[in-house]
Amino acid sequence: MFAAVAARFRAREQGVTDRDFQILLIERNRRPGAKISISGGGKCNVTHDGDVRELMAKGFLRASEQRFLRHALYNFSNTDLRDLLCRCGVDTVVREDGHVFPSSGSADDIVRACLQLLNEAGVRVVTQRRVIGIVCRKSGFAVQTSSGTSVAPRLIIATGGVSYPHTGSTGDGLDFARACGHSIVPPSPALAPVFLEPAPRSELAGVSLRDVVLGVSGEGESHVFRGDLLFTHKGLSGPAVFSLSRDIADIMRRGSRPHVSIDLLPDCSVQELEAHMLRYASGGGGRYVRTFLREYRTVPAALIGRILRQAGIGTEEKWGNLGKKARRSLQEALKNYCPGRVQAVPLDAGEVSAGGVSLDEVNAKTMESRRCCRLFFCGEVLDYCGEVGGFNLQAAWSTGWLAGQSAGSSVSA
Ligand SMILES: Cc1cc2nc3c(=O)[nH]c(=O)nc-3n(C[C@H](O)[C@H](O)[C@H](O)COP(=O)(O)OP(=O)(O)OC[C@H]3O[C@@H](n4cnc5c(N)ncnc54)[C@H](O)[C@@H]3O)c2cc1C
Repeated sequence: MFAAVAARFRAREQGVTDRDFQILLIERNRRPGAKISISGGGKCNVTHDGDVRELMAKGFLRASEQRFLRHALYNFSNTDLRDLLCRCGVDTVVREDGHVFPSSGSADDIVRACLQLLNEAGVRVVTQRRVIGIVCRKSGFAVQTSSGTSVAPRLIIATGGVSYPHTGSTGDGLDFARACGHSIVPPSPALAPVFLEPAPRSELAGVSLRDVVLGVSGEGESHVFRGDLLFTHKGLSGPAVFSLSRDIADIMRRGSRPHVSIDLLPDCSVQELEAHMLRYASGGGGRYVRTFLREYRTVPAALIGRILRQAGIGTEEKWGNLGKKARRSLQEALKNYCPGRVQAVPLDAGEVSAGGVSLDEVNAKTMESRRCCRLFFCGEVLDYCGEVGGFNLQAAWSTGWLAGQSAGSSVSA
């Protein structure tokens, strides 16, 4: 949607009339923007606050992605987005953590703003029509749909990734890109939940852990992320898992099973924990070990039995019977709690998918294909993946805007 709008704005700036430059947006759903509507739990975390340098450092952890997105993000930044939305009557607010949302708290307002812009730009929107093939010819692109073929001298592929396929993103654009000579980095899960075996017991599902450190290791590498976690019926979810899910999936793809552990007390060293335990034990050896664990805000009651089991300590154990070795095991269980073995990271359940059209084959200054002239890409169909916090949508707005401007620039008055 943003690519189509930017193409029109750029063409108009160059004096090209709307009649001489027609823009057609083909959408398979009844309405464009299905994924935007469900983003941010229906509230749409539309972008992230801060300057572009911060945005890149916080939002895109791989240097190749930062290099690729740099131009697009400077060309159409989070500030440009907020100004444009404001012009469409959608005010935005910044949360304490830098996440930006529409003030109304409704993702539908963002979709409405996009539709308003499309209308303003005189873009012809054809819905409920799925593109099924693209043929790259000298004269232009033959775009085959379920009800006929259109020919376009310039084409922007903005078909998204492969997660949440019911929203329309089933990876068709990857086949189109392949047909136009592009290499595709195989899609893999990102910002996804993790399934564990054994799956957490039902009494644990819904229990959240606040501000803990999740660690992942395997294949000689290790990654950590501090944030919130949620136990689900199948495993783990929440920001910390989302952030590491791409690394977990990478380790699995290379044939290993990653080890996942949780530091439930990230601000407390093992030495401090030992001191706390000794102090507590000196208060009376008849006190239960489990009562001590209740003192920690980050240790939910539902987890206490499991922590004791990992430490090899009975639930009725009292401090008086606890030797140094058992204390060490308890400290280990609190600092390295193992929630289970990783079974899978589901590709379709991620907020985004990594992989896609190889970034080396797309000009980062224009979003034009290096394989096929006048073909452009934008959004999640490209091989980048942002963190949780509004970065993925910002990357889609920015690459979309740049692709549109580039496609609109090559039209002559
Ligand atoms: C549950 C969920 C929550 C999210 N929350 C956030 C958030 O709060 N903040 C954030 O930054 N990101 C969030 N994201 C990620 C973000 O929504 C996506 O990264 C972003 O929408 C990608 O934009 P896109 O335009 O590239 O693709 P999409 O938004 O997926 O759009 C692609 C469009 O192409 C259409 N299409 C695909 N194939 C065809 C075809 N063959 N013919 C015709 N039309 C086709 C689809 O129907 C779809 O409308 C969330 C994602 C999910 C799944």
